Amino acid sequence: MSCLFCDIIAKKIPAEIVYESDDVIAFHDIAPQAPLHLLIIPKKHLSNVLAFTSNDATLLTSLFTAINIIVNKFNLTQNGFRIVTNTGEDGGQTVDHLHFHLLGGRSLTWPPG
Ligand code: 5GP
Ligand code: ZN
Repeated sequence: MSCLFCDIIAKKIPAEIVYESDDVIAFHDIAPQAPLHLLIIPKKHLSNVLAFTSNDATLLTSLFTAINIIVNKFNLTQNGFRIVTNTGEDGGQTVDHLHFHLLGGRSLTWPPG
């Protein structure tokens, strides 16, 4: 099964990586929608948030640990930021590998379109 983000994890496709641990990687989105737009993803291929099982507790902790480290690294704790995970067709998901968008560096409107 071919997967764009699995290829980025395997370093077959280049990406601007800003964080990497045993089970999580984060890199700049190719089409940024904010001054800072990163994608934070599990190295394990999961399609979306519905694919988590009770065996993924450690991975969930790793993902939120990564978010914490990254927002501190990019000095976003003061002004805030947004974490989004688009899911399925109505959610606007275009890459079928679970990813959390981290958007920051400007005031973001709500609700999204
Ligand atoms: P989704 O639409 O599934 O929520 O988010 C997929 C994201 O992946 C989009 O924001 C899109 O710009 C980003 N993206 C698509 N292809 C690439 C790529 O080859 N490299 C990087 N770094 N981001 C990509
Ligand atoms: Zn994948």
